Amino acid sequence: MTTLTAPKSRTIKAPPVANRKMLIGGQWVDSVSGKTFATLNPATGEEICQVAEGDKADIEKAVKAARKAFESGPWPKMNASERGRLLNKLADAMEAKIEELAALETLDNGKPLRDSLHGDLPLSIKAYRYYAGWADKYHGKTIPVEGPFFCYTRHEPVGVVGQIIPWNFPLLMQAWKWAPALAMGCTTVLKPAEQTPLSALRVAELAMEVGFPEGVINVVPGYGPTAGAALTSHMDVDKVAFTGEGRTGQIIMEAAARSNLKRVSLELGGKSPNIIYADADMDAAIEGAYIGLFLNQGQCCCAGSRIFVEEKIHDEFVERMTKKAKARRVGDPFDLETEQGAQISQEQFDRILGYIDIGQKEGAKLVTGGKRHGDRGYFIEPTIFTGVKDEMRIAQEEIFGPVMSILPFKNTDEVVERGNRTFYGLAAAVWTRDVQKAHQLAHRLRAGTVWVNCYDIFDAAAPFGGYKMSGIGRELGEYALQLYSEVKTVYVNMGQ
Ligand code: ADP
Repeated sequence: MTTLTAPKSRTIKAPPVANRKMLIGGQWVDSVSGKTFATLNPATGEEICQVAEGDKADIEKAVKAARKAFESGPWPKMNASERGRLLNKLADAMEAKIEELAALETLDNGKPLRDSLHGDLPLSIKAYRYYAGWADKYHGKTIPVEGPFFCYTRHEPVGVVGQIIPWNFPLLMQAWKWAPALAMGCTTVLKPAEQTPLSALRVAELAMEVGFPEGVINVVPGYGPTAGAALTSHMDVDKVAFTGEGRTGQIIMEAAARSNLKRVSLELGGKSPNIIYADADMDAAIEGAYIGLFLNQGQCCCAGSRIFVEEKIHDEFVERMTKKAKARRVGDPFDLETEQGAQISQEQFDRILGYIDIGQKEGAKLVTGGKRHGDRGYFIEPTIFTGVKDEMRIAQEEIFGPVMSILPFKNTDEVVERGNRTFYGLAAAVWTRDVQKAHQLAHRLRAGTVWVNCYDIFDAAAPFGGYKMSGIGRELGEYALQLYSEVKTVYVNMGQ
């Protein structure tokens, strides 16, 4: 995933964090109301600092600033390649501060430092660099039309975009939103998740330092139903991009429709099937299923949370997976040996334990975990259920925690039908040595990404997004540029 490595013995400490303001029109300002909110350290439940709390009036100011920068600032006149250069400079600045940013992400999110350092940061930096390359390359066509007309298309920026991101991968989600939008020449108002505003604000600071013109990027921290809702229903926002829960996606789409029909792209939840055949490389499949579910404390929209295992290897699989889950190192996110940190909040912690309770009441068998880990912070033991039936809530609803459900299957038609029997369609995986079966499943599974003999592989160049209720549109790759552009057709009368 990355070439950067940290020696095991080294320690990286949480950076000191002062109270934070919001960024509007190039200025760091307090909220109009003067209100602030606390952001907490999930490993302790203690306050890290206070952050300016944006609401409708702040969104109003930020959209005005973004509109001005889009219409009349240096941004619209700037060469496309210059926008690419700025994105690369931001990537350089992040790389220079990689340890500080990783530590900040871990402090505010609770994820293991080694994941922030070797996963979130390198992937975020790569996304900025990838779209830096696109800035001057996403161009239109000339089209041979009938008559004396010269016809061509222009790919123009969609305008002022509102971007709302979740707390599970704060820096990465900011990169997935900002990089293609800025490469295309849009201006943005970003609302980070209320649980994790700190890294977005720090990256915004770096962006201003490397020379992004004022108003091009605006960051308004705050809550969803206030600041988020003001952004999605604003009449002068041209597009909203959102990552988060399905329910929220529905609210956002409705707000977009009821206001100015702004363009909407959504990356929502999942209940992804991870299908393991008896002919698979068992070691690889177990490792892939383990990472595919437990990564990031299970807080991944694409988590392989329904593990379908072919009947004849079911018991062996369960035994080996249980051993691995029991050995997983849960604890202090700043310890570079830690594999699993804290869940994001008390609310999520309670929700996950609630699902574990539901699973037991529904009759699934709890084979390991199921309880809080330690006595402070929001840590949960890696948990495995067997005997899970398709209709159980733990097999249908997104738990967003370290809770694995293992379901046996007999044959391909059955597992494809069961795998697809969900409202979601974000990701799926298949493990087999049979190349025909692998491709057949890759085609038959209704999901935006299918991994074959791997899991959680991401690349800035390859699109990611959902079928069905897992979303609308594709982020990453060339496809994401469509989200941030309008196609204009120009006819010129050549007079012949
Ligand atoms: P989660 O349960 O994972 O926090 P959400 O969908 O609630 O997922 O949150 C993802 C992002 O959406 C956060 O930035 C949150 O503040 C924002 N959000 C929540 N509700 C709304 C809403 N009604 N309108 C706009 N944004 C919202």
